[in-house]
Amino acid sequence: MILSLALDGFDSPFGGCTTHLASLIAAKLIREGYQLADYPWLVRLNPAIPWKTRGNGAVVIHVHVDTTGEATRVSQMALKLAREYSGANKACLVAIIWPNVLDLKDLIDQVAKTVLRTFYTKAVSAQVSIAEAQNIVKKLRQQVIAIWGSERGLIGALASIGADLEYDYTFELLTYRHPKLWGRPRIIDIDTVIEFDVRTSPYTFLNYDYESKKQLITPHGLDPVLYGVRGEYPEILLKALKIIQVGEPPTHFTIFRTNQATDAHARVLKPISTLRVYDCAEVCGVIKQLKMLPGPHIAIDICDNISCITAMVYRETGKLLREVQWFGEGDAICIRGCVKQHKGILSFNVEKIYACISEKIYTVKLRCPLCGSTLKSKGKNILYCRNCDREFHDLFPKYEQYSKLECKVFEPSPAAFHHLMMPFQRLFIRRPRGVVPPSTPILEEFTNM
Ligand code: ATP
Repeated sequence: MILSLALDGFDSPFGGCTTHLASLIAAKLIREGYQLADYPWLVRLNPAIPWKTRGNGAVVIHVHVDTTGEATRVSQMALKLAREYSGANKACLVAIIWPNVLDLKDLIDQVAKTVLRTFYTKAVSAQVSIAEAQNIVKKLRQQVIAIWGSERGLIGALASIGADLEYDYTFELLTYRHPKLWGRPRIIDIDTVIEFDVRTSPYTFLNYDYESKKQLITPHGLDPVLYGVRGEYPEILLKALKIIQVGEPPTHFTIFRTNQATDAHARVLKPISTLRVYDCAEVCGVIKQLKMLPGPHIAIDICDNISCITAMVYRETGKLLREVQWFGEGDAICIRGCVKQHKGILSFNVEKIYACISEKIYTVKLRCPLCGSTLKSKGKNILYCRNCDREFHDLFPKYEQYSKLECKVFEPSPAAFHHLMMPFQRLFIRRPRGVVPPSTPILEEFTNM
C-alpha cells in the first residue's frame, strides 16, 4: 500500500519552507530503507489567497509501506521531525493510506479520488473554507491515519494529495543551505545561470530575465533554499549542480514533481458574472474601454454578453503592459488571472492575454500612373516602368493602409511570473505524459545536513 504524507505551512525561523522539511523526511525514509513511490510532489495552490506566506505551496511524499501498522509508524516518525522543525501555528501534516494500490495512476481509489481531486481543483483556483476541508476528512475517515496541526493548514495538505499531476506537470530541483547561513545573502555566479539557461532552454524555464538582467532562481526570502531550477525533466535539472556556481556548497538537493508552470489555476473559462473574490480563471470578452493609469498601469474594461469587469495590467508585468497599450476598443480577448477586491469592488489581475488584434500596416505603393504595374527604382527619385518603358521623376508615392489580424499569447516579462503561470515556451514541449517513477538519487548529496 502507499502512504501519502502531506505537509503544509511549515516555517523556518526565516520564512516558510515546507519543501525543506519534506526533503529531510524523504531523506530519513530512504536512509531507513523505505522506497518512495514517486518524486515528492510540490503542489502550488490558489496564488490569490491573501493569507499565504509566499508561494502557497504544500508537499506530498508517497512512500510504499506493507501494513497499516507500518504506515502509522512512518507517520509518527514524520510527525516527530515536523514537530521539531516547526514552531509555526499554521503547520499541518496529514497522513493517508491507499490500500491495494499497484500503480501510481490508480493511487487515489475511485471515491477518494473524486473527492480529493474535486477539492484540489477548487483549492487551486478558488477560496475554500476550513469546514469544507473537515468535511473531506469525514468522507475519507477510513483512509486518514494521522492529522496534526492547524485547521487552515488542513486545506493545503488535503488539496495537495488530490493534485492532478497526470495531465501536465513539471519538475523543480531545490538546493538547500546550511542552517548557519540561513538569512545571509546568497552568492550566485550570474554568468553560470545564463550558461545553464542557454544550454538547457527550452527544457528549463524562468532561469534568467534577459530584459531586466536578473537571475530568477533564488528566492526573495531568507529561507533555507539556496536556488531552485524548473524544467520538463529531472535529468536536465541535474545539470544545474555542475553548471551553476554558488558561493557555498549546498547541504543537499531534492527534485520535486510539481504543478508549477502549468496554469493549473486559470485553465477554466468562467463567465464574468460568476467570478467571486480570489477566483482564478480564464475570461473572454470584448474590450469596452482601455485606460492608462498613473504607474503606469492599464485598466481594461472587458465585457462578455452578460456583464463587465475591470482587468488590471500592472507595471510589474513589463512586456505585457507595453503590448497591451496597442489593444483597442472592440478587440476580442481572453485573459487569464485572478480576481481581487478593493473597497468592495472586484477587479481582475491579468497574468496573460490571448488575443487576435488588428495591426495597422502602412505600405508604400509605387505603381505606374499609366498601366498600374509596379515601378522599379532607377536612382534617386527616378522610377522606371518596365511595361511602358518610361521613367518617372519625383513621383509622390501613395500610402495605403492595411489591417492585419495577429493572434498570439501576450505574456509578462519573466520576472513577473508566479509559480503556477505557464510560460508560452512550454506549449511546444512534447513529452510523454504520465507518472515518472523516481530514479533521481535524491539522497546523493545529503552529506552535510
Ligand atoms: P510556505 O512557503 O511556507 O509553504 P505558503 O505561501 O505556502 O508558505 P502557507 O503558510 O502554507 O503559505 O499559508 C497558506 C495557507 O492558505 C495554508 O494554511 C493553506 O492551507 C491555505 N490555503 C491554501 N489554498 C487555499 C484556498 N484555496 N482557500 C483557502 N485557504 C487556502
